Amino acid sequence: MTTHKYKDIEYSLKKSKRKTSSIYIERDGSISVLVPSELQQDEIENILERKRFRIYSHLAEWEDANTSRVYREFVSGEGFFYLGRTYKLEIVEKQESALKLKNGQFLLRRKDLSNAKELFINFYKEKGRKKINERVDYWKKLLNVEPNDIKIMELQNRWGSCSEKRNVNFHWKTIMAPLTILDYIVAHELTHLIHPNHSEAFWNELDKVMPDYLHRKSWLNIHGAGMDL
Ligand SMILES: [Zn+2]
Repeated sequence: MTTHKYKDIEYSLKKSKRKTSSIYIERDGSISVLVPSELQQDEIENILERKRFRIYSHLAEWEDANTSRVYREFVSGEGFFYLGRTYKLEIVEKQESALKLKNGQFLLRRKDLSNAKELFINFYKEKGRKKINERVDYWKKLLNVEPNDIKIMELQNRWGSCSEKRNVNFHWKTIMAPLTILDYIVAHELTHLIHPNHSEAFWNELDKVMPDYLHRKSWLNIHGAGMDL
């Protein structure tokens, strides 16, 4: 990967065997350009010129999501993510369970307010376990891999991890993302069962089952920081 500058656009350039070009935003807000190896510099610059507006609107989205990050408050009207949608929280006086998602709203029992964060984490873990297992079943067949164990847990700065023992872990926050993005995270981790690194071979393998993975990866880099409690 090498750093280049075209007018006001600074970017990292990566050449690959792919036939198409992609521009995407990294987690730190930098721009990466992936192009077929035979593409000339002026052709690359043409692409950048054509995509200028897209690049800048993506960068603006990234800045919105990453510099004005607001922590959620457990008050009525606050929005919480679940599978890519936002649901408003409503504090209710009486309810049989402490927290539930019903009729497009999160309903939290007032006497459990002091445990709100923990209750949300448990909600995400529980829903995540079911959904992620379902998506693992789908993607493992396409990738022809067999994970040993799947866990939903708190992971530091990562969406997922994969161990030498073929145990695959996912952060409970992943269930906040739209399904297409959750699928990217699942397929990414399962591909590590074939290549335990981020080599070109790894990305090529993922590309075979998910040709639009770069768009999904870019979405996660832009919006990932906002997916938190
Ligand atoms: Zn990875």
